[in-house]
Formats: sequence, C-alpha cells, structure tokens
Amino acid sequence: MDAAFVNVEQLTKKYGEFSAVREINFSIEQGEVFGLLGPNGGGKSTTISMLTGLYPPTAGSIRIAGLDAVREARQVKRIIGVVPQDIALYPALSARANLRFFGEMFGLAGGELRARVESVLEYVAMSERANDPVRTYSGGMKRRINLAVGLINNPQVLFLDEPTVGVDPQSRNHIFESVERLNQEAGMTVLYTTHYMEEAERLCKRVAIIDRGQIIALDTPRNLIGMLGGGIIRMGVAEPAEETRRAIEALEMVKSAAYLAAEEGENPAQRRHILKIETLQANQALLQIIHCMNERNLDILSIETLEPNLESVFLHLTGKSLRQ
Ligand code: ADP
Ligand code: MG
Repeated sequence: MDAAFVNVEQLTKKYGEFSAVREINFSIEQGEVFGLLGPNGGGKSTTISMLTGLYPPTAGSIRIAGLDAVREARQVKRIIGVVPQDIALYPALSARANLRFFGEMFGLAGGELRARVESVLEYVAMSERANDPVRTYSGGMKRRINLAVGLINNPQVLFLDEPTVGVDPQSRNHIFESVERLNQEAGMTVLYTTHYMEEAERLCKRVAIIDRGQIIALDTPRNLIGMLGGGIIRMGVAEPAEETRRAIEALEMVKSAAYLAAEEGENPAQRRHILKIETLQANQALLQIIHCMNERNLDILSIETLEPNLESVFLHLTGKSLRQ
C-alpha cells in the first residue's frame, strides 16, 4: 500500500463533451483533513461522487486504503462515510430510526447497532431531540443528522460535501467542531469540500483549489496565502494607459503591475479597467500609488487591497471571486 490513504490520479468526468472534472491529481494522508475549495460548479460534488462510488469516472484512478474504488467498490463502501450535499433522510422517521436504518444497511445489529446510534447522536449533539420526526427539525439539525449517518459505520475516511451550506450559525459550529474532534480525537481522515474559504483555512491541513473542473493550486493554506507575497492591490482606472502602468510599476514598493481584462459595464463609458499591482508591502505601496496618481492628475475609480486569505488567493489565480 502506498503512503497516501486516498490517491487520485488523472481523474476525469465527462457529461457528453463537457468535462465536469478534468485530469485531477491529489492524495490524502492518513489522519489528514484535506480541503477541496472551489466556486459553485467547480466540480467538487462530481469529484466526491466518483470517490464514493456514486458513479464511475470517465477516466483515471482512485485508490482508497489500497483498494481500487471502482473495481473494489463494495469493500471501499464499508470503510468510508459519506455526507452528501443534499439531505438524505426519511422525514417521517425519527433521527434514531433513520440511524438504525442506515446502520442495518451496514450489517450492524443488536447491542452494537444501539451503541453506534447513541455514539453518533452524541457526536453531533442531537441526543435530546433524537426521537422527534426529522421533518420537525431545522435545516441545521437535519444536516447534523446527515453527518451522524455518515459516521454510523465508524468509517476510516469521511467525505463531506459542503456540510455547512445554508446552515444556521449554531449548527454550523456544531458540524465544524464535530469534524475537528473526529480528526483530532479519532484520527479520522477527512475530505471536506466547501466554497467558504475561512472554513478551509481553519480546518484543512492542505487545500486543493478547484475551478472549472481543474485543480489550479494545491498546498497548505499558509503556503497558498504566501503566494500573495507582500499583498495585492487592485486599482480601477478609466483608461488602461501603458504610461500609468509603467509609473506604478516603477514605485519602490511595487513588484509588478498589469491590467486585467476590462469589466463589462452598463455602458462603455462606465467600464473600469483593473490594474493588478503586486507589492512588497501593501500599505506602503498604497500611499505611493495614491501619491503617484494624484501627481499625474489621474482618477482612481476604485482601490482595493486583498486580504491575505484563500479568497484572495482564488481571486489572484482566476481573476474572479469564489462567491460569484
Ligand atoms: P460543485 O459541486 O463544485 O458546485 P459540480 O460537481 O456539482 O460542482 O458540477 C460541476 C459541473 O458539472 C457544473 O458545471 C455542473 O453544471 C455540471 N454537472 C454536474 N452534474 C451534471 C450532470 N448530471 N449532467 C451534466 N452536467 C452536470
Ligand atoms: Mg456541489
């Protein structure tokens, strides 16, 4: 068995001519929380669906705990837990009854089943309401039970697909802390997908940024943020004049300056051009930039300093926001 617990090579999923996931590669170490961060439509759910055996890849390979996830899908299903993006529970049944049902599907019975059900209910802090029908729960509570279902077979690796989307802050915290505890106390290996960069930053040892089906960066949050260097400033101007660009680039605290493609405005006269400025130190550079533009009587239509976080890394790599 290779060192990696989960190993994905050249994984591809096509729907007709369209590639939802394109030749992605990554591996997850045992006991690691690995993040898959990307915008809506990036390919996160498609990737999880292939990893968890919901549908086969068009090409590429997936190995989990030394097993081939396609050819040995049945053995793989026993050792993985899945928390899908959409809630999959029986609304008329209580949480306990739902958990018993899913536990039985894994061959659990008797005292062992009872103990597992109580243990996962405790894990997601839902023991008290566990006899109420699921339909009476808030969205966040349903999500917590969804997580409990993913844990019922005491999996070695847990796949979570955007578990906190549309969840109230209290449940969101519960889910978050449950995942942290599972990893820290039980050493569980976790693949966590999200489009919330602050979650990925806090939870994940390493993060792959996926956009339009491709992994465009993969590293620790700290190293990814390090890509931003001394900080990046985006300045909106009316005209993409080369002279302005050169003057900004010549400033002491500026490393480079380049125009991005023009943004589409309501009418052409209102179009902004964005000068992307990589700096040695953002605040000092900002003062120099404003001074330089004032001296030349040039208007600054907008100015924005990118915070050193993963959202900015994404913006830096793709030119667009994660939340678009
Ligand atoms: P994410 O989970 O990151 O939001 P998805 O994996 O759900 O992204 O989707 C990736 C891309 O694949 C999107 O463009 C989506 O519209 C497309 N897609 C997903 N499922 C199907 C399908 N069954 N048929 C055709 N296209 C699909
Ligand atoms: Mg999705």
